[in-house]
Amino acid sequence: MSVTYGTAQAICGCERGPLSRCSRCDHIQELLDAKNGAYTERNLLVAALAKLFPASLERHPAEDEWDDDWRWIVFISLDTGQVSWHIHDSELHLFDHLPRETGVVWDGHTTDEKYARLTDLDWAREKRDP
Ligand SMILES: [Zn+2]
Repeated sequence: MSVTYGTAQAICGCERGPLSRCSRCDHIQELLDAKNGAYTERNLLVAALAKLFPASLERHPAEDEWDDDWRWIVFISLDTGQVSWHIHDSELHLFDHLPRETGVVWDGHTTDEKYARLTDLDWAREKRDP
């Protein structure tokens, strides 16, 4: 995902013109680039996980307030329970191997529960295949 310089300037709040530089804008842009890089790395890992367990892409309910370009959600059914992540439209191509809108719904897991399910994964697999 790419973020435009204008977004950094909106966060900065400065009033620099199109031809002038702002060191705060530059710093904010560096942070945004680092964050976007982390999203891409996270998505590559989630996409790999979604090849190992039953998974699908579902749409965030339309009636909820949510950014339109963040409405796709990848759901993965681990041995330890369901986990899910919102995927930005620009990175959907990483999930082309998944079926879409199969009717899977969020089981209500919190972010803490999601990462606990990931953490518990080894333990569950060892129990299944000692
Ligand atoms: Zn600025």
